[in-house]
Amino acid sequence: MGTLVGPVLSAFTTSKDRPLFRSPTASLPSSKPHLTTSRKTHHHEINTSRFGNFLHLKPESKPGCLDSDLPWFNTSDRPCFDVIIIGTGPGGLRLAEQVSQYGIKVKHEEFESTIQCDDGSELKASLIIDASGFSSSFVEYDKPRNYGYQIAHGIFAEVDSHPFDLDKMVLMDWRDSHLGNEPYLRVNNSKLATFLYAMPFDSNLIFLEETSLVSRPVLSYSEIKRRMEARLRHLGIRVRKVIEDEKCLIPMGGPLPRIPQNVMAIGGISGVVHPSTGYMVARTMALAPLVAEAIAECLGSTRMIRGRPLYHKVWNGLWPIERRLSREFCCFGMETLLKLDLVGTRNFFEAFFDLDPYYWHGFLSSRLSLHELASFSLSLFGHASNSSRLDIMSKCPVPLVRMLGNLALQVI
Ligand SMILES: Cc1cc2nc3c(=O)[nH]c(=O)nc-3n(C[C@H](O)[C@H](O)[C@H](O)COP(=O)(O)OP(=O)(O)OC[C@H]3O[C@@H](n4cnc5c(N)ncnc54)[C@H](O)[C@@H]3O)c2cc1C
Repeated sequence: MGTLVGPVLSAFTTSKDRPLFRSPTASLPSSKPHLTTSRKTHHHEINTSRFGNFLHLKPESKPGCLDSDLPWFNTSDRPCFDVIIIGTGPGGLRLAEQVSQYGIKVKHEEFESTIQCDDGSELKASLIIDASGFSSSFVEYDKPRNYGYQIAHGIFAEVDSHPFDLDKMVLMDWRDSHLGNEPYLRVNNSKLATFLYAMPFDSNLIFLEETSLVSRPVLSYSEIKRRMEARLRHLGIRVRKVIEDEKCLIPMGGPLPRIPQNVMAIGGISGVVHPSTGYMVARTMALAPLVAEAIAECLGSTRMIRGRPLYHKVWNGLWPIERRLSREFCCFGMETLLKLDLVGTRNFFEAFFDLDPYYWHGFLSSRLSLHELASFSLSLFGHASNSSRLDIMSKCPVPLVRMLGNLALQVI
């Protein structure tokens, strides 16, 4: 969704040119490989003479290595640890920082896990934590991983001009007026809609992102780029220079890893991605201290709790029953979004952002308790138009029954 945390301004636009609300957003900068698409083969030739085609522009910024002062660790110096965290993305780094604050010291005898490094050396630890991202193979699942996917193309660009207010960020522009001359794109967009996210820095510098909120199977990346190109042309935005571009692909929803298991997880692979929004980073920052506390209670205590009780404690520290139930509810939200077409999606968000901000702020930032989530859903249904209610009731009975079944299983 190209968004993170922080109370800054934003606008939501649905069917017409009507900004509806303000919301918490901020962009996550990143550099991704630049992909190009051939326009020759598509039957929707576009006249690019006036605004040009920004897709051929190469981003100025290239991915590079971090300049880090971390000393190289010689595995033969100390093969035994309290905790080993695999991966230093946001999840791994945050948890490492939190755990290290407890200064845990444990003498190792048994109950150890071993990891094998690429150079053949082995490291042992009381607890191995997998923070290696979505494609990890260390964590086990006992259900099929039926993810939905958020996919987006973003550019941080220098433009001749743009029509956005400098003191606002546009969170979701669901308009499709830019596809008037693009019958092929318009038909597809009416079934599987994408929105624009825009964050102006000044009148010539702006971050723009075309996003598919959730799709299964994932919407094609080249289609997203073509939609963005049509949208920018329609908005009269001529891109002079692409400073950075980004491709975003986030698996959402699906089952949680088996709880508990010998390897603990944090970050994307641990199931903390918000199933209805794709947000993860801020939530991981907030949850890591709780996991660190659970680890410290076990490994830092004189009782030296290790083995199965340790795994049980840390997994349940991350996923206590109430949080699992809330996630189940948000997975239902994702399944609902997957079933809605453009009109249904607009109606849904009209009702969503019409709610008391406490609810939609809380839902987007995963702060609502289970009880509040129940009130939120009733309130959302109450605010929805009749057609939206009908949409949800007619298209979502299966996900609803599945959610209720899963809720019952979790409680048992
Ligand atoms: C362009 C883009 C924009 C995004 N915007 C947002 C946003 O606005 N808000 C948001 O919440 N999320 C956003 N996301 C998603 C977010 O970046 C991910 O959910 C998050 O990075 C996942 O964090 P992680 O720590 O679980 O894994 P990762 O960030 O994937 O980090 C895993 C690390 O582990 C390393 N690793 C993997 N395997 C091994 C191994 N075997 N041994 C050692 N190391 C290993 C990897 O190299 C990597 O450094 C965005 C993603 C992209 C691509």
